[in-house]
Amino acid sequence: MPTLTPAGQYRGPAPVVHPESEPFWRGLGEGRLELQKCNSCGTVRWPIAPVCWNCTSLDATWTPVATSGTVSAAVTVRRATGNQVWADVVPFVSAMVDMADGLRLPGRILPAASPSVAAPGSAGAASGSGPVSGSGTASEPGPGSRSGTAAGTAADPAAAFPAGTPVEAAYLDAGDGIGVLCFVPAESA
Ligand SMILES: [Zn+2]
Repeated sequence: MPTLTPAGQYRGPAPVVHPESEPFWRGLGEGRLELQKCNSCGTVRWPIAPVCWNCTSLDATWTPVATSGTVSAAVTVRRATGNQVWADVVPFVSAMVDMADGLRLPGRILPAASPSVAAPGSAGAASGSGPVSGSGTASEPGPGSRSGTAAGTAADPAAAFPAGTPVEAAYLDAGDGIGVLCFVPAESA
């Protein structure tokens, strides 16, 4: 079973965890990307729903799904609208990602993970988890292939992730065993 890359601590509004969606959040918190698969027709459901949109069956099993994909579209979010918790997080890159198994999932794209991120909760992970705080990314070309775009990345972080860019699903630790889906450049996964 693929294990997601930990991308640091989550900062943002607490996820709304409903009993029906809890396995999704808990799976992420443990580094797994799992969605409902219909036991009747085999459809993997997204968004999470109580009923299969294809055959109306209520019977489903939480199943691991592909963790690799390519960017469908990415935008830079610069202002916190609505919940002002986001004011501490902007700017960040928000994207829709076409997953290898055909699903299209939403999530932020975070800068290439630094080695310290491997230890969630550490000071290094916290500082490395900032959406575009990556001062290291801007001032010195990282080990990834995105070097050379440092200036452009600072001006428009989303410009570093044109459609088709390979990314890998990752998760942010939101505490209480809950994780939040995000993505990192495939090279760093
Ligand atoms: Zn079905």
